[in-house]
Amino acid sequence: MVFATKSPATGKELGAVEATPLEDVAGVVRRARAAQEKWAEVPIAKRIKAVSKVKKRILERAEEIAQLVHDETGKPDVEALLGEVLASADVVSYWAELVTEELEPFEAEIDALSYPKKRGWVHRDPRGTIALIMPWNFPFALPLRTIVPALLAGNAIVFKPSEITPRTGELVAQLFDGVLPDGLLGVVQGGGDVGARLVDADVDLVVFTGSTATGRKVAHACAERLIPCSVELGGKDAAIVLADADLDRAANGVVWGAMMNAGQNCGAVERVYVDKSVADVFTAKVVAATKALRFGQDVGPLTTEAQRRVVERHVAAARAAGAEVLEGGEGIESEATALGYRPTVVKIDADDNALIADETFGPVVPITAVADVEEAVRRANASRYGLTASVWTADVRLGERLARRLRAGVVTINNHSFTGAIASVPWGGVGESGWGITGSPLALEHLTRPRLLVVDRNRAPRETWWYPYSPTLRKLALAFAAVRGGAASLGARIGAIIAVVGLLPKRMGELKTGKPRES
Ligand code: NAD
Repeated sequence: MVFATKSPATGKELGAVEATPLEDVAGVVRRARAAQEKWAEVPIAKRIKAVSKVKKRILERAEEIAQLVHDETGKPDVEALLGEVLASADVVSYWAELVTEELEPFEAEIDALSYPKKRGWVHRDPRGTIALIMPWNFPFALPLRTIVPALLAGNAIVFKPSEITPRTGELVAQLFDGVLPDGLLGVVQGGGDVGARLVDADVDLVVFTGSTATGRKVAHACAERLIPCSVELGGKDAAIVLADADLDRAANGVVWGAMMNAGQNCGAVERVYVDKSVADVFTAKVVAATKALRFGQDVGPLTTEAQRRVVERHVAAARAAGAEVLEGGEGIESEATALGYRPTVVKIDADDNALIADETFGPVVPITAVADVEEAVRRANASRYGLTASVWTADVRLGERLARRLRAGVVTINNHSFTGAIASVPWGGVGESGWGITGSPLALEHLTRPRLLVVDRNRAPRETWWYPYSPTLRKLALAFAAVRGGAASLGARIGAIIAVVGLLPKRMGELKTGKPRES
């Protein structure tokens, strides 16, 4: 099957892309698995050398990459340059520098008295073959955030880009041409059927980013197979604006946070709770900053027709509930595209409305005035999502206290959701925003698994806890329980220590002969 898409930016047909036949998916996984076994044996320094070459390739092809991302998603190319190209080059340097130390085995703590002459080390082994299933909204940066550390940690990857952005997906894989063993980074193209087939193939971990609805299906399929998965899903981020906030900065930040990538950002501001004493002034500033946005330069069109329909439906639901559309609230049709939607500001006071309860993923900022901080926190937390949140205040201490009460994976004070592009910090959510973690060494929790390796240099014929069991062993166990805190008094504890000292040689004798003593 061949699938083609039109550019949301220009309306022009983009070149057709061949979908991977479903029956070929297992073969791509098999090749990746075969390559991984050898790749895991390659010394880490050589893996770093190979993967690091990709940084230069990203930077040399910066304009071409940004242009392609623009053509496929419609986002301004400057957004692609900043948030996808530069951020991805940084991802390569960050992991190349860090990974050796992070993967270094560390000595496990094994109590030498209870377990004599044993030493253990914890190694971080690769998971094996990873299925990587990605969305279209950051089609270049998101896959690389996982591909780079996963490869460095010794994994193979089979990557399925979104069917909306298959060409960017192909380009991501091309960057690794000639630097990796054949098959180690496989690509399968297509829609949900190909994604589902990949999850069911012989993979060891699924790393999924996308909608909550699909993430639930993926998690279900992984549970059936008892393989782990990481799911990074939708969001409905709240920004809380307190009465003492710098309202100019707050308004500009909220507008950027809501409109960037035409609002098609999992961490976009999708709800604003502002103290009623400053609500009118703040809202006027948001409206002014929104009016100033230039279509095409600052905010592109929506990426898909389906997305535009969701935005229209949510704004209509808000209107029906009596909300006031202060700016925008309608499509923009130009010669180039029919997918434009005017950046929109809505004044609303309803928790069960689609615009407040569901992910909109469009350039719409709903503003709700609240009586106080407590109401703001309560309403911000009353969401099934929990990806990011922000608090805008001059009182940073108060901001920090509120941040700890907010149910979100990332909370920023006096900024919103800019950290997704930073390789060194964790990104992830709670609730229906999923449980994945990208960025920072914590990402390795998914991409590797611990292997404990223990070496025993004890030459005794038997360990204390081995056969034969005996009354002496039972007494010894009870004496240990008393020594470790079970004794009712200090005297009883001292008695237990004396008992241990007396019982141990008896037990040693039993272990030597293999015969229990009657006692
Ligand atoms: P989507 O769920 O429609 O698709 C995501 C991917 O899953 C695509 O590659 C798709 O082909 C594939 N897929 C579809 N059905 C599948 C199935 N049954 N089994 C396996 N794979 C399947 O999401 P989308 O529209 O591409 O992306 C937008 C969503 O992604 C938004 O909800 C957004 O919030 C979320 N997102 C989250 C983060 C995050 O970090 N939490 C980042 C970016 C986007």
